[in-house]
Amino acid sequence: MEYNTVQKLKEEWGNKPCDHPRFEKVYYTGAFLINYACTQCGADFTIAQKLEIEELRKKQRHRVF
Ligand SMILES: [Zn+2]
Repeated sequence: MEYNTVQKLKEEWGNKPCDHPRFEKVYYTGAFLINYACTQCGADFTIAQKLEIEELRKKQRHRVF
């Protein structure tokens, strides 16, 4: 996802709550940046934060069953 797209998503989404269903790598003029962004609201995440959320979801999924 392009950096500019992320900024646009952020503007359009505003302050609504989001559970960040999907992450995409953010790149800028062809070069990958380290950050990930939510494809729904455009919030920024570091790789560590992204992994943490995914781990948390795995655990939550296990708790449900
Ligand atoms: Zn989000």
